[in-house]
This record gives sequence, C-alpha cells and structure tokens, in this order.
Amino acid sequence: MLRADEIAARLQALDWHPKDWVWEVVPQCPLCGAPPHTLLSQWDRYGHEVWLVSCLTCGFAWLMRRLTPASYARYYREGWYRRFVAAVSGESAEDAETSMQANQRAFGRLLARALQRLPAQAGTTVPAVLDVGGSSGWIARTAADLAYGEVCPVDLIDPAGSELNAPRVDAYADVDTLAAAHPDRQYTLVLVIRTVDHFSDPLAAVRAAVARLAPDGYLWIDFLDTAKEFEAAKARYASSVTRKWTHTQLWHALAKLDHPCYFFAQSAQRLLHLTGLQPVRYLTASERHLSVVCRRASSEGR
Ligand SMILES: [Zn+2]
Repeated sequence: MLRADEIAARLQALDWHPKDWVWEVVPQCPLCGAPPHTLLSQWDRYGHEVWLVSCLTCGFAWLMRRLTPASYARYYREGWYRRFVAAVSGESAEDAETSMQANQRAFGRLLARALQRLPAQAGTTVPAVLDVGGSSGWIARTAADLAYGEVCPVDLIDPAGSELNAPRVDAYADVDTLAAAHPDRQYTLVLVIRTVDHFSDPLAAVRAAVARLAPDGYLWIDFLDTAKEFEAAKARYASSVTRKWTHTQLWHALAKLDHPCYFFAQSAQRLLHLTGLQPVRYLTASERHLSVVCRRASSEGR
C-alpha cells in the first residue's frame, strides 16, 4: 500500500474533486438507530473527511459523512471505484480491473464448490439466481455455468466490462427495477457477495433481497470482517514502518469512501436477524471475510 501523500498525488492526477459531489451526514446508527459512540477516524485512506464512527449498542461502524445514494450511484457508474482502488494499490486502472476480475473468478470457484455442498433444495421452484451487486458479472456467470436456471445480476458496477455473455442471464440496474418489471419473481439462490459493505442502507437493501428469496431458497451473504481487517492492518504496518501506529492511524488506513458500512461478527448477526434470515452454514470465503449461507427464518424446521 502506498503512503498517504503518494495516494493524494495519484488522486490529484485523477482530477477528482470531492467538493463537486453531494455529501450527507448520517447521525444515527443505520442498524439500530443509536447515536454514534466513538469517532474511529475523521478521514478515509483517500483523504476524504468521512467521520468513521462506531455504535456501542450493536457494534456496527459507519461513515457518518458520505456521498448521497445518488452520488454513490454516479461514483460507480463513472468508474471512480476502480480508479480509487488503483490509486491506493499502486496499480494502473487496467491492472486494478484485472485484479478485481481475478478476485471475482476466485470467488466464482468458491461458489461452485460451496453450491455442491449445500443441502438439496426442496425443489418447489425453478432454480434461479439473483446476484445483488453483480460487479463484473463473473459470479453470476459461474452460477449460470453450474446449470442454475435463470441468472439475474443487478446493480452492476461496470456493465460495459461485464462478462455477461452467458446464456440465461437477465441483468437489471437494481433490485427495485427488477421488482417493478417482475413483481412476483422469486429466486432459489440470492447472492449478496462482497456487496453489503457498499450499501448506504444495508437493512433496506438486504430486506429487498430477502423479499426476492423463494421460501425454500438460500441467500448467501458475505461481509468484510472489520475485526480481522483491523488485525491484518496492524500486522501489515507493524512490519512496514519503524514506528508504532496508533489505533486512529489504523482506522484511517482502513476507512474508505466506497465502504459506508463496517461489520463485525456481532453486527453481521444483527443484520441477519433484522432481515429475517437464519444462518445455516458459515463458509471460509477468505481469511478476512465472514461468509454466511442463510434461509428465511420463518422456513426453519419446514
Ligand atoms: Zn447500532
């Protein structure tokens, strides 16, 4: 990872002007409504003033100052996400795209293995996959190749660069657009993979995804585990700098504009509970992720 001044210089070269974007303040915990308890970092790794705060009641952490949902939509649509990843990783924008694709392909392989181990579905509905936050489309394509029926990725970060030339793939911009077009359509597998940390309102977004889940279907959600991310950053900086980093400096390095949400195990469980999901299996997606396959809580014991 680059130093802060190197990142700042790269962002300056991108012609990024934060003041030209619309920002909002979120004064209450998006999960439980409590006021913020601790300011973890005033700044993000890119130099934005974001006020990363934590909630004492539920353990969630969030960006109290961030872009509005409409501005985030523009941010992804215009490719800023990829450019920022490239700036902080020291890669070129093309390399960043390549590493994201590699990341998606690795997850696609994990998906293939995990799906083979899941208990058989009741089979009352035609198999269909909804991939919320479809990114480049690779994970959806993997699901299609695994002979799931229809595959429906939504909210693609980069439709132009997508790998959606697979059969039976029906893409939508977001879950609301999908719901308006097909109000009764349900899915036997709903994927929320490497996506929930990017939501402005994780409760509403996951509830919308659960509403599309067939009664006997599975929802697979993957959280970045903030506690593990923090420990990894501590180890990384301990070996790369001569002085000891403070907690505030570590949070500064972890905070990023494109992650309004920071989950720990406790707050992830709370999100599942609040959205009517019952964990049925925990998977090892990567050492810093908490990956959970769920069913509807109401279908427990069916
Ligand atoms: Zn809370």
